Amino acid sequence: MKTELLNPNDIERAAGIIRSGGLVGIPTETVYGLGANGLNPMAVRNIFQAKGRPQDNPLILHIPDPSWLEIYCQDIPEEAWRLAKRFWPGPLTMILKCKRRPPEELKNSPVCSLTHEGPYIIPDVVTAGLDTVGMRCPAHSMCRAIIQAAGVPVAAPSGNTSGRPSPTSAWHMLEDMDGKIDAILDGGDCQVGVESTIVDLTCQPPLLLRPGGVPLEELQAALGKIELDPAVTRQLEKGEKPRAPGMKYRHYAPKAPVVVVKGSPVRSAEYILEHLSDPRWDGVICFNEFANWYPGYLVELLGGALDTWEQARRLFRALRAMDETGVKRIWAQCPGDAGMGLAVNNRLNKAAGFHIVEV
Ligand code: AMP
Ligand code: MG
Repeated sequence: MKTELLNPNDIERAAGIIRSGGLVGIPTETVYGLGANGLNPMAVRNIFQAKGRPQDNPLILHIPDPSWLEIYCQDIPEEAWRLAKRFWPGPLTMILKCKRRPPEELKNSPVCSLTHEGPYIIPDVVTAGLDTVGMRCPAHSMCRAIIQAAGVPVAAPSGNTSGRPSPTSAWHMLEDMDGKIDAILDGGDCQVGVESTIVDLTCQPPLLLRPGGVPLEELQAALGKIELDPAVTRQLEKGEKPRAPGMKYRHYAPKAPVVVVKGSPVRSAEYILEHLSDPRWDGVICFNEFANWYPGYLVELLGGALDTWEQARRLFRALRAMDETGVKRIWAQCPGDAGMGLAVNNRLNKAAGFHIVEV
């Protein structure tokens, strides 16, 4: 299959491919997504195929405006509307109860033309058979325009090959998906750079399943108490099950093993300096302040030590850049947990398989 590279004028073309059951790389503010008609089980199955994604890892359903929640979800708590008002369109995914199969009068409307079996309005292949669904209304205007024009909710995971760092540019997505999908619409570099924050609203208190583009502190300001799923901050024990099935997999990993070094920026920079052994095989991902500390070594900059937004934006790009170099070991500085730091920590920890040094 030839993968077409589309430009921002090709919204209709992208929407047409989705409507007719194809796969399209779509720009979002978080990372590039691999989108398909979320009501077409065959199309959604092809997403799993193209990514090599395990079947038990559900997809997020993307909608062009909050009013679509009522079509696909039921028992929507007041908190969901509050969060939608405050954070949508934007990098927040809410886990809500999936709507059971709709009444007769809705069956033939285009937004839920049901061709699948199963107890819910959304095919099981999207939700991995759960009775809940992850819903998001993205901030990227081209992404919303594509969904609106397609007239169906778009199921989309990140557009990388499973396990690899997520793509934050059309080019990075093409690296992984060339020849496997119909098209990618180039909407520029992603402004957030890490995936959406996922909050489960089917329990009390709400549960943070994945940190992402909306910082935990902002969610807490809107909701009050929120619990953290253990998978957010530590490696799960054998047999332990995360609420977001995807959190159990090794993810975001470059080819070379990563060591994450935590502590004050100066101390972690020193630790890395003391442990580097060979400019041919050691690469460093560091804060901008330390750009000149490692002459001769391959260095990728993460952003200023205190600028966790910039770090989030550059993280996957830095991990992918390391893959281009053939380094055999990557040392990475890591921010504290505040603000976007929690998401940067989570992605780096997973990229490193939780190989963390505290200094
Ligand atoms: P990705 O789109 O690649 O960022 O992956 C989507 C993430 O959302 C994965 O970690 C999934 O496990 C998680 N997810 C999607 N739907 C649900 C759901 N209904 N319940 C819990 N987690 C979900
Ligand atoms: Mg992903």
